[in-house]
Amino acid sequence: MLDLGSTFIQSVERNPNAPALVADEKRLTYAQWFDIIKTVAGGLEERGIGHGDHLLIVMQNRWEMATVHWACQMLGVIVTPLNWRSKPDEIDYCLADSNAKIIMYDDSCIEAVREAKNVSNIGIIAVGDTLPGSHRFEDLLAATPIDGVSRATAEDFSLMLYTSGTTGKPKGVPRRHRHERAAALAHVAQNLYACGERTLGVMPLYHTMGVRSLLSMALIDGCFVCMPRFDVEQALTLIEREGVTNLYLVPTLYHDMLSHPRFPGTDVSRVRKLGFAGAPMSEALLRRLDKAFSPDLFVNHYGSSEVYTMAITQNARTKAGCCGRAAINCRLRVIQLGSDNPDSLVNAMEEGQIIAHLDGDEAFEGYWNRPDANQKSLIGRWYFTGDIGYYDADGELFVSGRVDDMIISGGENISPVDIESVISLHPAVDEVAVAGIKDERWGHRVVAFVKRQASVNAEELDRYCRSTDLANFKRPREYVFVAALPKSPVGKILRRKLVSGEYEIDANCEPAI
Ligand code: ATP
Repeated sequence: MLDLGSTFIQSVERNPNAPALVADEKRLTYAQWFDIIKTVAGGLEERGIGHGDHLLIVMQNRWEMATVHWACQMLGVIVTPLNWRSKPDEIDYCLADSNAKIIMYDDSCIEAVREAKNVSNIGIIAVGDTLPGSHRFEDLLAATPIDGVSRATAEDFSLMLYTSGTTGKPKGVPRRHRHERAAALAHVAQNLYACGERTLGVMPLYHTMGVRSLLSMALIDGCFVCMPRFDVEQALTLIEREGVTNLYLVPTLYHDMLSHPRFPGTDVSRVRKLGFAGAPMSEALLRRLDKAFSPDLFVNHYGSSEVYTMAITQNARTKAGCCGRAAINCRLRVIQLGSDNPDSLVNAMEEGQIIAHLDGDEAFEGYWNRPDANQKSLIGRWYFTGDIGYYDADGELFVSGRVDDMIISGGENISPVDIESVISLHPAVDEVAVAGIKDERWGHRVVAFVKRQASVNAEELDRYCRSTDLANFKRPREYVFVAALPKSPVGKILRRKLVSGEYEIDANCEPAI
């Protein structure tokens, strides 16, 4: 298995004049980008950064970030990216945890970097405004380039993503070059990417989806159309102007794109492949997307930071919510709830815990410095995803949600996803999330948080639910109309914020039932 630096060199040799990167006014071919990457690698080396060191990156998706990512792959430096919205104590925690030798930041998070205590002990690279002691990214561009040979091996660590920390301190997930390359190859194959594909590089490069997009393009001489952060207007402009051919986004971003007044006038005809991951897509959104793009391929990826793509279907439109079958590089099982025995399989249509087997080229070898977390989530080579799901009669996987989000009401286990998929089909509902709220009688009662796109009240929605085949015990006992649903930086609905009351009520709210 090749390392990623050598993988990029292959692309340069194969197709030096192919467009590789678009960012603002910048347009680079593979050969032009490689010259810059070698120079930036030289600049890092001159500053004492080398093989096996961690480089912490806290910034938006700028071309400088994509460039440093590849420069690190040439040097064997471990890219350790963080959300640019990180707080100073999170930056400090991850700096200490990774023992990073250098941090690179941009203006989006300069205040947090300024306040982080551990930053004063290490090297700093600024894209934009500088802090005391920082080097400017431009200075790296004046360095002597390294030669065109990768210093990394397939066994070296390439990347360390941090999980978002919704369940305690963020956990580092170290990935070797061979893991990253295998994941990128699988991504190309599973999306049927063709040579010269152009992708919208908007999923954050601190998240597995962003990294997948970046690396997979290099395998097929494709072009990464880089966007610092999601902005619907800009996304639509880039899709049309740059002839984007595939999209790989979380459902929320598709929702925002379709809801924008400019969408109907935008030419999206060159987008032939749609992919989504990170969260289930409601049937209503699936249908709207299918109609708006009529893509050749509509792919649902079920994955995580730990095991990138666990299951996949290339026919997302045929069965809403279906995640398909185990992906290349992965084995999957659904086992009994509460069991720690990987052989305790459940029957078809029976809900259980989803576990993924880790070996082969793409593997999860455990969290960085976290024996406690490894003990909890790894049994032998089986990774316990924390998700609940089932196989249908055709042997295809459905994900019902996270173990922690399951609502236990009156002794019944209730999956929020089942209820959301019913309510989202009501024409007045724009978005919906369901959560369990503590209740003296039921333990937890089912509450639906609804963002409306047309007038509707709780009685109407209740009548609607009764007219469907939603089981009576799953019917929401309360509706809350919200101005917006709380979401994570990558657009996932944060149910815990709904439970703790951290949301804004819709000002035109009718009384709940
Ligand atoms: P944390 O840090 O707590 O792990 P996170 O949501 O940022 O949070 P990810 O690894 O990005 O971490 O999320 C993985 C989870 O997202 C999966 O375990 C699953 O619950 C959900 N998920 C991912 N893809 C899909 C999908 N296609 N359909 C349904 N759920 C999905």
